[in-house]
Parts: sequence; C-alpha cells; structure tokens
Amino acid sequence: MPYVIITGASRGIGAATAKVFAQKGYDIVLNYCHSQQKAEDLAAFLRKEYHVQVLPMQADVSNPKEAETFIRSAMVVWGTPSVLVNNAGIAQQKLFTDITWEEYQTMMNTNAGGVFSCCKAVLPAMIHVKKGAIVNVSSMWGVSGASCEVHYSASKAAVIGLTKALAKEVGPSGITVNCVAPGVIDTDMNGILSQETLNGLAEETPLSRLGTPEDIARAIYFLASADAAFITGQVLTVDGGIL
Ligand code: NAP
Repeated sequence: MPYVIITGASRGIGAATAKVFAQKGYDIVLNYCHSQQKAEDLAAFLRKEYHVQVLPMQADVSNPKEAETFIRSAMVVWGTPSVLVNNAGIAQQKLFTDITWEEYQTMMNTNAGGVFSCCKAVLPAMIHVKKGAIVNVSSMWGVSGASCEVHYSASKAAVIGLTKALAKEVGPSGITVNCVAPGVIDTDMNGILSQETLNGLAEETPLSRLGTPEDIARAIYFLASADAAFITGQVLTVDGGIL
C-alpha cells in the first residue's frame, strides 16, 4: 500500500489533504504539533471511513531534530513513503518595522526550515528506490509579496526557491518536487481577519469566493499523482485567479 507523510495535518489544508489521499487508498502519516486531539479524531475518522492505516505523529517541524526523528520513525514502521507533503506553516500580520528578529527566525524556521528538514530526512530513502513525489505548500504571497507579511512572504518565497532547485537535483533520481501556492483559503489561519475583510478578499477574487481546504488538497494530490509524472519544479497557483 502506498503511503504519504503530511506535515501539519491536524487542521485546515493538511487535514483536507489527508482525506483526499485516504480516499485514493493511501495510508497516512499524519503529523501535528499542538492539536493532538484533532489529529487523533481525524485518524479515527479516516480509518473508519476509508479503511486505511493512519499513524498520527507529534513533531515540531521547525526543530530539525524533531522533524528528522518523526520521519525516520515513520520510515522504520512503513518504509520509504511514496509522497511527502510539506504543509505545516504559521502566519503573522505585522508592520515590517514591528517584526522582531525572533519572529522572523520562527517564521523562517517553521515555514522554510520545516520543508528543508523533512526533505532531508526523506530523500536518501527516495533516492535509494529512485522514486517519490514531494509537494510543498507555499503561498501566493511567496510569489507576489504581501504588505504586513514580509517575513511570511519571505519564508514562502524560500519554499519556491527550494522546490525549483531540489527538483533539478533529484530529477535524475526519478523524484518530482513541486509546490502549490494557495490564495486566500478559509481555514483557522485566516481566523484573525474580520468577516468584512474576508468578504472584501472574496470580492477581489475573480472566482468570487474564498478557496476551500479541499481546493488545495486536490491540487496537492494531482501534483503527487501519476498524472503529474512529467511535472517537476513547478509552482501551481491555486487562488481563484486573484494574482
Ligand atoms: P492552519 O489551519 O492554521 O493549520 C496549520 C497546520 O500546521 C496545523 O495542522 C498545525 O498543527 C500545523 N503546524 C503549525 N506549526 C507547526 C510546526 N511547527 N510543526 C508541525 N506542524 C505545525 O493553516 P492552513 O491554512 O491549513 O495552512 C496550511 C499551509 O497552507 C501553511 O503552510 C500555510 O502557510 C499555507 N497557506 C495557507 C493559506 C490560507 O489562506 N489559509 C494561504 C496560502 C498558504 P497543530 O495545530 O497541531 O499545531
């Protein structure tokens, strides 16, 4: 049975991605950081609904040792994964002049460092078997830049650079590396925005709505699937046309 490792899968886009892969028959390693109950509940739902195996694993991916340990432990149990989805991420809105060095470091360590560490942990095994797919979750702000989200935008631009470079390096080993760049998606991450702001963002979007976690999950699954076997190093923007 193929299996996928998904980081930050306790909520939002990661949880929706776990559902899509489970529907397709994948076993799931479901990483979470703080939301243990949500991860356990989702795991129970996936087992019952789709009859797949699910391994919830706690790790803070911003910590390279924790990221490496959880991925190595998963591989001891289930071997080399078919797919790694680097989805875990945090956001913060602040004027650039108010962002502290520590906040910048936390943002970079989580959003870009987590991708680096998880790719490093999984790649020797994927290279050994000469196959695998990695899908990273960036953001449209990593493409265009967002006011009051300079550190977030920088971390997501780093994910795009890492994706493109790594795709070239591991392509000869039969491994694809791509990323999705979501627009404004209706998850907890945007919970700090007022309903008025969210309505304004939906109006600005050519498709006239916010994205759903499922919109992104389906794009992630596509990039990991055999239908995308000749696609690598790409950034798939899934934003309802807003960019
Ligand atoms: P969310 O609802 O806030 O969920 C974030 C997920 O990431 C949670 O499962 C959380 O786990 C996990 N996480 C956070 N820090 C972690 C860490 N250090 N180690 C491991 N897991 C960690 O956010 P979302 O909207 O689904 O976002 C998912 C990804 O999409 C992020 O990379 C985000 O930047 C990106 N994105 C989102 C949007 C949007 O509009 N929502 C737009 C563009 C890109 P716990 O709850 O267990 O701590």
